[in-house]
Amino acid sequence: MTQRIRRTKVVATLGPSCRAPGMVDKLVKAGVDVFRVNLSHATLGELDEWIAVVRAAATAQGRTIGVLADLQGPKLRLGRLRDHAPLTLQAGAPVEITTQDVEGTSARLSTRYSALPHDVKKGDRILLADGAVELRVEAVEGDSVRCIVVNGGTIKEHAGMNLPGVAVSSPALTEKDRVDLDHAVKAGADFIALSFVRDPADVRETKAAIAAAGGDAPVIAKIERPEAIEELDQIIDESDAVMVARGDLGVEMLAERVPMLQKLIIKRAGALLKPVITATQMLESMVHAPRPTRAEASDVANAIIDGTDAIMLSEETSAGEYPLESVETMVRIALETEEFFPPRVRRSVRVDSDSHAISHAACSITESIDVRCIAAFTQSGFSARIVSKDRPKVPIYAYAPNEVITRRLALDWGVIPCLVTFGGSTDELIASVEADLLARRAVTPGEAVVVVGGTPMGVRGRTNFLKIVRPSAPS
Ligand code: PEP
Repeated sequence: MTQRIRRTKVVATLGPSCRAPGMVDKLVKAGVDVFRVNLSHATLGELDEWIAVVRAAATAQGRTIGVLADLQGPKLRLGRLRDHAPLTLQAGAPVEITTQDVEGTSARLSTRYSALPHDVKKGDRILLADGAVELRVEAVEGDSVRCIVVNGGTIKEHAGMNLPGVAVSSPALTEKDRVDLDHAVKAGADFIALSFVRDPADVRETKAAIAAAGGDAPVIAKIERPEAIEELDQIIDESDAVMVARGDLGVEMLAERVPMLQKLIIKRAGALLKPVITATQMLESMVHAPRPTRAEASDVANAIIDGTDAIMLSEETSAGEYPLESVETMVRIALETEEFFPPRVRRSVRVDSDSHAISHAACSITESIDVRCIAAFTQSGFSARIVSKDRPKVPIYAYAPNEVITRRLALDWGVIPCLVTFGGSTDELIASVEADLLARRAVTPGEAVVVVGGTPMGVRGRTNFLKIVRPSAPS
């Protein structure tokens, strides 16, 4: 029986739970395509270690795996707590948040966010610990904000703080982000994720910082603020990929809006030809249990049916008790979903170039004759990406000239990144790809492959030929 090829990509977050001996190798074997290092928690030393561990595991297993460095962004946090111990806030009780560096108690908490008294006013909501605790601002006095606890609960030291509906005045890239970004680019991270994006200028600023660090890593805009929804298309256009960052999105906006926003973001990313990751709480209960809830299994399946390119695990793999089972579960749900909802070629994406026309034609051919796969020559990854966005029913083997580009394609739905040396004539290149596909058992002699590419080879963004080939058995 031939193994089913999964089309949806899996992103897993690295953390303490992945430190068990051989765990990263097992996660790669189980099917992780991209590993995320969350720089809200990981140090730069740990980022370097993780990159080395992932590269070693990928090489050992002959897989193409990307590493995503996720910047913390202007995440607001409370300060330290007395004895570093969690504390409980009771509904109805008064509590003050000061910008002075004090030990927090249930009467007086601190934050290093010095603009807090400037940013909020009477009546605003302050949410703590991913929205578990809600405060209402009663008054602003000097460097303090006086609040009433609306929904009580327990908070830990440095708990996250969200100000829904408040225009937060901190910059998109904090000083920490700039240091982290510079290091991540120089360390060879394949993607840089930008948290709390508000507008396209935030993405441009990040790209400028990446260029200043001497790189050109793709930027993934995390959509988690209401302002970002208002300028969604412009942000997607400016970015290289997007993430439906449902954790903060569901705190910054009402949780009941998240499912529809997810569908909207995935749809716009599809139309604008950018890969999209659906993230957070996908298999949340698996942090402590070896099996998901039915609702979680449905959530993963529904994100795939919505058309996401990738699905992401956070605490499940970084800090959970069942990291391997979480990846295996996600992979099984993806395979099951793809079998029952096989991809349907979609033509909704814009056709405004020769490249798009060729891609559409390639996908059409797979619907009229029996084709085993599409092979796309791609210099920058773009030609393979537009084929992916048309959602053909056969796998897309993307032949790129260097490992950096192949790793960047690890996120794209249905794409199997392959390395090729551009050189020689187009016919010679096609012959070498035919041999490679036979060797990979992606095709058997006589079966049809649709090849797309650009001549002259090696020119970015110029797909201008399509050929149907039927590899013959090596003599
Ligand atoms: C999110 O908020 O959903 C998210 C992915 O970001 P982080 O994990 O950095 O909070």
